[in-house]
Amino acid sequence: MMIIMRPGAPREQIDAVIAVIEKNHLSSHPIFGMEQTIIGAVGDGHYVAKEIFEALPGVIEVQRISKPYKLASRQFHEQDSVFQLDGFNVGGNEVPIIAGPCSVESREQILEIAQAVKEAGANALRGGVFKPRTSPYSFQGLGEEGLEYMAEAREQTGLPIVVEVMAVSQIKMMEKYVDVFQLGARNMQNFNLLRALGETRTPVLFKRGMSATIEEMLMASEYILSGGNNHVILCERGIRTFETATRNTTDINAIPVLKKLTHLPVILDPSHSTGDSEFVSAVARAGVAAGADGIIVEVHHDPAHAISDGKQSLTPESFAKMVKQVKAVAEAVDRKLVESPLHVGEG
Ligand code: PEP
Ligand code: MN
Repeated sequence: MMIIMRPGAPREQIDAVIAVIEKNHLSSHPIFGMEQTIIGAVGDGHYVAKEIFEALPGVIEVQRISKPYKLASRQFHEQDSVFQLDGFNVGGNEVPIIAGPCSVESREQILEIAQAVKEAGANALRGGVFKPRTSPYSFQGLGEEGLEYMAEAREQTGLPIVVEVMAVSQIKMMEKYVDVFQLGARNMQNFNLLRALGETRTPVLFKRGMSATIEEMLMASEYILSGGNNHVILCERGIRTFETATRNTTDINAIPVLKKLTHLPVILDPSHSTGDSEFVSAVARAGVAAGADGIIVEVHHDPAHAISDGKQSLTPESFAKMVKQVKAVAEAVDRKLVESPLHVGEG
């Protein structure tokens, strides 16, 4: 609900509205303008009648926001959110590229891939250490040992690290290592985990559930935002459809639709959305052309022997080619890749 105060309404009237919001177990988010104050009431406002606010002194209008995701919505926050990560911005004009293996498999593997993706133009390193595998008998990840290798890779390359968190109990330990938590597709509606991520101040790369609508995605992101963690990066990673030619179906539409509905950065994962390295570069280009604020892609130095997701992993060479092509597309739509120190001075 948005409560619009009369221009020049005194502070006591604003405070009285905030008191009623809080009495109704909603949280208040006032925006103090030069002349006018608007107060957002966030929570399960569905059960609170707007008439109780309309009756208060100084209130001129109360609007129910038809969109139930208020903090994620552009209606509440018109400008694009831009967050600073280590060495680059996400959500601004630049298009960062996050790359790395599906899973951290060994110290040598992650250090080698980290170096290779850095040289090819990646801005952040991805790598899973807790893996949400379909079978409980598949490799489940190296856990904290893998995080130590990721941290070493960050030290060697300067790339910030993005790692999936699967459980509330992992957050505290992981926070010491990661620059960005990845929330996986399978956990998009794990509301306890979402709430716990809302309590942290570590950015969250939030993946769309494979059967989630855009509205469900934004509602779920609201759990994190309403806890006070504003640093949410949305990620389209393909949805399940009747089509079986690819692992998932890239919902390219989701990119401009999300950009319209929310101020949060929106990135694309062409690896999980296609499931095939042959199509990754084409779909990455399509994503950037459609307005994606970044790309997250799986890269492995030896895809044929990768423990997970080898089929969709690019080699460092094909990744370098993808980066060049994505760069050209970014420039065609008045964006650019992150100017990493590596590129400074290059012809
Ligand atoms: C991953 O990034 O390796 C992964 C498991 O992604 P998703 O949650 O999108 O399937
Ligand atoms: Mn993967």
